[in-house]
This record gives sequence, C-alpha cells and structure tokens, in this order.
Amino acid sequence: MKLSTNEKLQILADAAKYDVSCASSGSNRKNTANGLGNTSKMGICHSYTEDGRCISLLKLLLTNYCIYDCAYCVSRKSNDVPRAAFTVKEVVDLTINFYKRNYIEGLFLSSGIFKNADYTNERLIRIAKSLRTEHHFNGYIHLKIIPGCSEEVMEEAGLYADRLSVNLEIPTERSLKKIAPEKNHTSVYTPMNYLTGRISLYNDEKRRFKNAPKFAPGGQSTQLVVGASPESDFDILHLANNLYSDQKLRRVYYSGYIPISDDNRLPALKAPPLIRENRLYQADWLLRYYGFTVDEIVNEQHQQLDLTMDPKMMFALRNMHLFPVNVNTAEREMLLRIPGVGVKSVNMIIKARKFRRLGYEHLKKIGVAMNRAQYFIEVSGRPLGMVSSDPDKIKMALAAREKRNQLTLF
Ligand code: SF4
Repeated sequence: MKLSTNEKLQILADAAKYDVSCASSGSNRKNTANGLGNTSKMGICHSYTEDGRCISLLKLLLTNYCIYDCAYCVSRKSNDVPRAAFTVKEVVDLTINFYKRNYIEGLFLSSGIFKNADYTNERLIRIAKSLRTEHHFNGYIHLKIIPGCSEEVMEEAGLYADRLSVNLEIPTERSLKKIAPEKNHTSVYTPMNYLTGRISLYNDEKRRFKNAPKFAPGGQSTQLVVGASPESDFDILHLANNLYSDQKLRRVYYSGYIPISDDNRLPALKAPPLIRENRLYQADWLLRYYGFTVDEIVNEQHQQLDLTMDPKMMFALRNMHLFPVNVNTAEREMLLRIPGVGVKSVNMIIKARKFRRLGYEHLKKIGVAMNRAQYFIEVSGRPLGMVSSDPDKIKMALAAREKRNQLTLF
C-alpha cells in the first residue's frame, strides 16, 4: 500500500522519538544573502513531549525499515510495526515547509539501516546537501552516522551537517552482544574516532584560516540507552567521562530504555527509568560544568545514583566533613560543591565578596537556593540555619519540604 507523506510522517516522527540526542546548541551558521534561516550558538527554541523529551527540531527517521534486530529497538526487523520510508524530496520539502511556517528551526535526521551503513548515510547526506545547496537552508542540521560508515561518506556528511552523532547505545560490548548480536562497538568507535580527528582538524584550521570550510561545527554526540542492560551508573558515568575526555564529544545523551519488547534478554520494566535518566543528566552537568570527578558522584560503594535526591546533594550529604563552607573565604571549587549554588551564583559571590562580607540577604539576592544551601554554608563564621550536621536529619528535612511543596500544588 502506498502511503501519503502525512502517513509516513506519523510513522517516522513517532519512531524517531526514541533517539534523544537532539539538542541544537554548539553551532553557529549565519544567514546568507538569499538564504533561509540561521543557527545560533545559544541553541534553538526547544519544546518537549509529554515524557519530557526534546522535540525542538523536525525529528525524523528516513526509514524505520532495518536489516538489524536489536532487541531494545522499536524498528528492529522482527517487530511487527507499520513500516515507511521517505524519499529524499519528501524530507527536504517537509523541512522547508515546516521551517517557513516557523514550526521548527532545524532538522534531526536518523534512520534504520536500508542495505548497509554507506547506502543509508548517502541518502541522509543527499537530503542535507539539497537543503544547503539547492534551498540555501542555513538552519540547524543534525545527521546520524550509521555505525560502519566509511570515511568518504563521513567527509561529505560533515560538509553539510552542523552536528554528527554515532550512537553507542549499549554501554558495554558484552551487553551489546547479548541484545544486539549483529552489532559491535568497533563499528561505532571507528567512525567516532575518525570524526574526533576530523573535527579537531577543522577547529585547528578555523583558528588559522578565516574561511576554513566548515566540518560539523557543532561537533559530535552520542546516545546511551539506560536500563536495557545491567550496567550501573558508575559504569555509565565513567564511560561518558571517557567519551568527553578522549573523544571530545559535545554531549552524551542518556535515553531511559522504553519497554517495548517482552524479549527475555531485556529487563521486565513497567515504565522507562525516567528519574534515573534525569539523575544521569544532573551528574553529567556536574562533570561538565562544576568540575566534579566521577568518583565524587558515584564510586565502588555507591554505584547507583540516588533516585530521591540529586547527585550534588548526595555528594554533600556523604561528605559532611567538608561543610559548612564559608562563602566569604572558600575557594571556587568548594563553592561549586554547595547544593543550591549554581555556576552563575558562584561567579557573583566571588565578585561581590571583594567589596563586602556577604550575609544571608546578599546570598538570596544573588540567587542562591537557600532552602537547600542553608545546611552547608556559613556566613560571618556562623553556620546558617543548620538544623543538624546529621545527613539523615538533613535528608528528612529536605524530603519533608519537598512533600509540602508538592501538596501546595494541589
Ligand atoms: S540498527 Fe539501529 S534502527 Fe536498526 S534495529 Fe538496531 S538500533 Fe534499531
């Protein structure tokens, strides 16, 4: 049966929602004389689906046909779901039409695997190329690189896309072999390594030559599926940390496994582990912006992130000997470890304390979340409102406050 573009859109936009690596930050592409749109470094307008996933871009699969049978994936070949495939022209037209109507500010394009990696990626690239060269589209484009893709194909993808991503999906080779036996990590790390080198070359050229040809200026990212395999948060965060340091990835995205299969190789979950996913994002934020090491967040004794408290609070509660922190004298590194104090507040504290000693009111004005910070700071040499230095009592006080806040919502 021949499907209309709208019917394909329903199937392929729905199938794309399982890929969460869709933020658009990190790229800068100006409009040109007769061009269409632009991309700013600050990211684009984001909107969220009911379960909190970002859908700020026109987010599509080119096709949900796939030659592989990864147990955790809705597009796996053995799954009995309606299948569809866009033509190159259909995706180009949809992108331009949605863009002109101001519905979207860019395109996130992934795909099941048609015949092989290169065959599929060449089609994705034709779409990006047509948008850039025929329609002079300067909006954001994120293209998926299919594991196993050749260097020639990646070279071309980098010319037209702002960001490229190869998904690692399952954190360890051992688990991958169990639930996606046709795949292996080498087919992911090989293109990822190539892109790391190529993007670094581009960044170097950009510093030296004003008109260096763009190559994936928004860098590369990857996605890890969380909860489909037994890896702990300790394993996942160590892996993410290595990807940031060795592969210079711009983002690692965490996708809570959505139970779509009763395959006995997968855990029997009732719902996707969204709180765990959220805690991983918070921990990731601490690694990237707060200078935390992985071992401060999770370690051999505490391999899983706490689901009731955020990771920064849990670090503080496990390390009460480091608190209270005197905000008038503490090093930046310690200020960043106080729950309720963000990077912006730390910068303001450091600036403001040069001129005066800071007290409760100053901190409130600066934007410190005093309901959380009060247990961990001192001003003028006195602990501030510290009910106890007993982490269990603080945890109980915070939980009671949280409950009260929730009740006031109803
Ligand atoms: S290769 Fe990708 S699209 Fe195909 S079944 Fe595996 S995860 Fe799904």
